[in-house]
Amino acid sequence: MKPIKRNILLNPGPATTTDSVKWAQVVPDICPREREFIDIMLQLRTDLLHVVHAPAEEYTSVLFCGSGTINMDICLNSLLGEGKKVLVIRNGAYSARAQEICEAYHLPHVVMELPYDEQPSIEELDRLLTEHEDISLVYCTHNETGTGLLNPIREIGAAAHRHGAVFVVDTTSTLAMRPIDVVADNIDFCFSSAQKGIMGMTGLSFIIGKRRLIEQSKHFPIRSYYCNLYLQYAYFEKTGEMHFTPPVQTVYAAVQALKEYFAEGEEAKWARHTRIFETIHHGLAELGFKDMLPRERQAGLVVCVRYPDDPHWNFGRVHDYCYERGFTIYPGKVGSAATFRLCALGAIDEQDIISFFNVLREALQSLGMSIPIHYNNFTAS
Ligand SMILES: *Cc1c(COP(=O)(O)O)cnc(C)c1O
Repeated sequence: MKPIKRNILLNPGPATTTDSVKWAQVVPDICPREREFIDIMLQLRTDLLHVVHAPAEEYTSVLFCGSGTINMDICLNSLLGEGKKVLVIRNGAYSARAQEICEAYHLPHVVMELPYDEQPSIEELDRLLTEHEDISLVYCTHNETGTGLLNPIREIGAAAHRHGAVFVVDTTSTLAMRPIDVVADNIDFCFSSAQKGIMGMTGLSFIIGKRRLIEQSKHFPIRSYYCNLYLQYAYFEKTGEMHFTPPVQTVYAAVQALKEYFAEGEEAKWARHTRIFETIHHGLAELGFKDMLPRERQAGLVVCVRYPDDPHWNFGRVHDYCYERGFTIYPGKVGSAATFRLCALGAIDEQDIISFFNVLREALQSLGMSIPIHYNNFTAS
């Protein structure tokens, strides 16, 4: 294997990958309708269930060709029966996207709108679900990747179930990082994309959910031909294949990535992400940066940082300085607040973060900024 230039991606996905995952894509050409490829996808679907401890008698996984947003689109448009409503818990950019999907499909929906730094109150949620008896689907984002806000999914799922609603949670930026147990966490459907927690390549997404509920959805309105959960599931059941052309090489990379996931182990991997996250916080504190959310509300994978109040600060120039040296940082996504993000995803470790902060310090100095950096009137949250 030739070594490939290693970039440290601190953006919220795609993540830094291992060379073995990159090279896993280089395979002999194969028609994906061949038995050999069907067996690979079957194994991949089974392994994905293990990542979230989903019992195979009750849950299945369905693969799709597309980026992570395809999962959001599919779950929302496919799992809503005639005359029913979706409840979107909205406290960040990704749940706002879910609301946009509801609007695009004209799905009846109720939005529980919260500030970007606020977790939902379960009493309020219970009240909304009592008031709107026709809500049959509760939707939230596990880790709002724009800010790093953690939502209490276990409690939200329990509330959904008390009211007979299906619980769908966007785990795109937690699955295979922060441990998830679909049974204990009251999850009916969750999903992610191969380029995030499992550290594979872009173009493959997957939904893990209850087989019984997918089968029930057969009778729901079909709102999309390409993006329908039941249709793709039924095709997999009948043939073991995706209905249309799969992202072949990305599937091979995902298989290798999962091999590496299980070799590292759920607990050790979460410990590594936590180590990276803490090293990021330590590095930021040393330079005087402030983050947007109180620590106890952070999901442990994304740090959202306020722009300093120094006229020399220029995100674009800091980005370019770091990028030229192999480190990618990313703008924020918090309404109008000026922020940037550092994420603890991917095949990286503490040492990479230490190296990054040396480069960031140089970048700030090259702009003529004083360290520790300066804020005008910061009120600690
Ligand atoms: C990355 C991400 C997605 C999917 O984004 P794509 O750009 O479509 O891959 C969805 N939800 C969350 C929470 C994410 O972090």
